[in-house]
Amino acid sequence: MGEIWIKEAERLGDGDIGGAMDSPSAPGRAVWHTTESGAGDASFDAVAKYLITHASEPHILYDPTTDRLGQYGPLNESARALRNDGATRTNRTGRVCIQIEVLAKASKPFTAYWKPGKNFAALMRAIRSWGVPDTWPAGALAQSYADNSPRPRTAWATKGGHYGHSNVPGNDHWDPGNIDRSALFRAAPKPSTPAPSTPPPAAKPVVDLSNLIAAARRDPDLKQGGTTHPADVKVVEAALKAEGLLAATYAGDGSFGSSTVSAYKAWQKRCGYTGSAADGIPGKASLEKLGRKYGFTVKG
Ligand SMILES: [Zn+2]
Repeated sequence: MGEIWIKEAERLGDGDIGGAMDSPSAPGRAVWHTTESGAGDASFDAVAKYLITHASEPHILYDPTTDRLGQYGPLNESARALRNDGATRTNRTGRVCIQIEVLAKASKPFTAYWKPGKNFAALMRAIRSWGVPDTWPAGALAQSYADNSPRPRTAWATKGGHYGHSNVPGNDHWDPGNIDRSALFRAAPKPSTPAPSTPPPAAKPVVDLSNLIAAARRDPDLKQGGTTHPADVKVVEAALKAEGLLAATYAGDGSFGSSTVSAYKAWQKRCGYTGSAADGIPGKASLEKLGRKYGFTVKG
């Protein structure tokens, strides 16, 4: 189900202009008209009343110079701006047949001077909400009254998209004139699908070398699990565990106890240190190497 009442539009008339569609399984379409009047609020108000008086309301009245938007009836019911094509009720063709009267003249294509704004975008959003594609199935629009533009019955009956009144079979009006058909779509770009948001990369933890050395010297003499600088130590323990050198039992307690000293000693040996250079007390080079491998940086 698409949008029935456009929330940005002002309501015109009593809201009851038509009825159910005759061929709701046919694709939806929009039909563009021009009122053959001037624009501006005085014209808008006068034409809005005139169309009610003459029982020829479209769904939408739009002022291309002010972006003012009005709506007479629900988009999922028929409007009354088309003539029947013999027995075929053109106003009731399709899932929707959204008719738009633009305050303009066919002889002066409104896309040459209009100022579409957020209300026009809302109108296009509502049209698209019914699956009406950004296409013109009947092709070109009439360029003049004498121009007998194609009014293909098959396209009208079967294809969704945008039509001019000049494209509708059984009708003889040439509005909306030779407007720039693609300008309607360009004026209301489809919202681009937002790229999946990738979380910003987590800042790398920082391990303070002097804190770590202090912990490695002090913690083994504390009672089991005692800590000196647990935040720094936990980062290194996680790396030693990932390296396969520290049992999970000891990793993450933040205490640089004797097991962690042994694990670090093994890491130093892996780095090629021997003798007193592999004493389990972290040095800058071995710690930086561990950090590069497991994603932390070393300070100090
Ligand atoms: Zn018309």
